[in-house]
Amino acid sequence: MRRVFCEQKITTDQITLAGSEAHHLTNVLHVQAGEEVTLFDNTGWEFLAQVVKATKREVHFAVQERSEIDRVAPRSLTLAVALPKGDRQRVLVEKATELGVTTLRPMLTERSVVKPRDNSLEKMRRYVVEASKQCGRNRLMEIAKPIALAELLERPTKGTKLISHPNGAPLRDFLTPDCTEILALVGPEGGFADTEVTQAVAAGFSQVSLATTILRIETAALTIAATNLNL
Ligand code: SAH
Repeated sequence: MRRVFCEQKITTDQITLAGSEAHHLTNVLHVQAGEEVTLFDNTGWEFLAQVVKATKREVHFAVQERSEIDRVAPRSLTLAVALPKGDRQRVLVEKATELGVTTLRPMLTERSVVKPRDNSLEKMRRYVVEASKQCGRNRLMEIAKPIALAELLERPTKGTKLISHPNGAPLRDFLTPDCTEILALVGPEGGFADTEVTQAVAAGFSQVSLATTILRIETAALTIAATNLNL
């Protein structure tokens, strides 16, 4: 079943979609009146709908069934990550979406190389929508505003706070089924500076090790996501 993301909240049975999603449906996928699709609107609900009319600019749907299906783990996981470059950014966003991460927040650290710009954030949000269509997620992963590590450490944060660092204690010591809210930090290719680790620990973060090998940024982030999903 084709899944279609609807920017506006679906509150009535007659839905009209315009913009790029509509353009893609008619001009690329050539949907026809009578076809059924699943609409989702970032509320945790999905809607079985039939195409009533498809023109070049708009697609009209009639909603037939609605169901609340949240396919994401009940635990909230925020990954604050010093972004990798180029294609690896896409891999990170796509896989984190599939693995049910709640929020991905680009983080700036002393040794960060990638400075996220508005257009790269927009691109990341598009990857989230594409991955959500594919994987059945009805609530999008949030791409949060980039933050400097120092500022993040000053903010009061509830829940389990982790900083991934190769010589930390095993992840399973901290990520347990009774966790409800998790914030995990992943550093840049050059690693966190020692002072950053010390400051994070002073702010209540526990140092966690994810493997005996050195992982790349996205592998480290996705290891935390996959572990969280399987507690
Ligand atoms: N040269 C760096 C490695 C950076 S890897 C160093 O030795 O610290 C990029 C980030 O991924 C690290 O900052 C860390 O947050 C995370 N990471 C990589 N491998 C890890 C491991 N085995 N355990 C915990 N975190 C790891």
